[in-house]
Amino acid sequence: ETIIIDTETKQYPVYIASGALQELGPLVRKYTRCMVITDQNVRPLHLDKLLSQLPESAEQCVLTVPAGEDAKTFEVYQEALTFAVEHHLDRKSCILAFGGGAVGDLAGFVAATYMRGIAFIQIPTTILAHDSAVGGKVAINHPLGKNLVGAFYQPEFVLYDTDFLRTLPKKQLLSGFAELVKHALLSDKEFLKELQTKIPDGGHLLSPHLPDLLKKGIKVKADIVRKDEKETGVRAFLNFGHTLGHALEAHGGFGKITHGEAVMTGIVYALLISREQTGLQFDLPQFLSWIETLGYDWKIPAGAAFDEIYAYMKRDKKTIAGNIHFVLLESVGKPVLAEVDKDRLSRLFLLQQKGDL
Ligand code: NAD
Ligand code: ZN
Repeated sequence: ETIIIDTETKQYPVYIASGALQELGPLVRKYTRCMVITDQNVRPLHLDKLLSQLPESAEQCVLTVPAGEDAKTFEVYQEALTFAVEHHLDRKSCILAFGGGAVGDLAGFVAATYMRGIAFIQIPTTILAHDSAVGGKVAINHPLGKNLVGAFYQPEFVLYDTDFLRTLPKKQLLSGFAELVKHALLSDKEFLKELQTKIPDGGHLLSPHLPDLLKKGIKVKADIVRKDEKETGVRAFLNFGHTLGHALEAHGGFGKITHGEAVMTGIVYALLISREQTGLQFDLPQFLSWIETLGYDWKIPAGAAFDEIYAYMKRDKKTIAGNIHFVLLESVGKPVLAEVDKDRLSRLFLLQQKGDL
């Protein structure tokens, strides 16, 4: 199936299916050369399958970077540019990201900046990448903060072969699935219900229904990105669960806790705040028992002190004039951006830390 992503700067397709990789050949024929960026984990598992779809010469043009956030550094970024120069990539060449969100973010930033921008192609291999590969945000990290150096740069297309997901470790399945839950909560009750029915527990994360559910998630994101490519308005809703999520990630040190696990904890926090502040009607106990069966630990880690986390939350990009803004839900499918006062934040934080909901 093809989903069209429409932005002000570009329109491009997301092809998603089991076996979609077979469509790659004709799609890259027009480029003088393709540089593949992949990581240490994906390479041994899947690189051969990718290369079998590319011209033989592609084998010489594969850069393997460290897995995870270690790929998104200035050093690796420079190494990738050097590799591109040495392999004679020109303006008609392309950069192909083959891996999860970290590889996609790095490769996209390389593509956006090499020779002021060359073609970029996303071949995601994680559940999380149903989110990160769509929408055109690309970035590397600065030692002082995540994703601080980046661009909005849309790919030519995204080719999402869901067969790659089968080798993901459980932790990575959960990390990506949290973004899917986020998309459902931002969309409508029926989508959430469908997720809960089709993925009832952690043993079913790789259900045959997953590709269809991911399509729905991508459509939710596509709808929001269409309205607001550069995040001046509604795109901020995609940060649902991320204010606390990012703070927990930063506090724990990037890479210790997965992005999605931190976001799921943040989603629970945002739901708790919403119940008090917007009057959200939501069966929280039922939701919590579902995510527990999936394998999430939604309690705020005992080692996280509110004042420290609060300081991190204040650095959030949604903070305006020192006031922390949260994405809350008025109802499922109806997000709003709202200021939340510190007393409420601290009281609910302690409640969620005790697990006493
Ligand atoms: P990731 O690339 O770090 O992948 C997670 C782990 O899974 C890595 O260890 C990777 O080697 C491994 N892996 C990938 N594919 C695999 C497969 N098929 N089988 C087995 N192992 C595999 O990152 P992610 O979790 O996909 O995404 C997180 C990153 O995405 C973060 O850097 C985050 O900032 C970024 N992100 C970007 C956006 C965006 O809009 N650009 C949105 C959300 C997250
Ligand atoms: Zn996220």
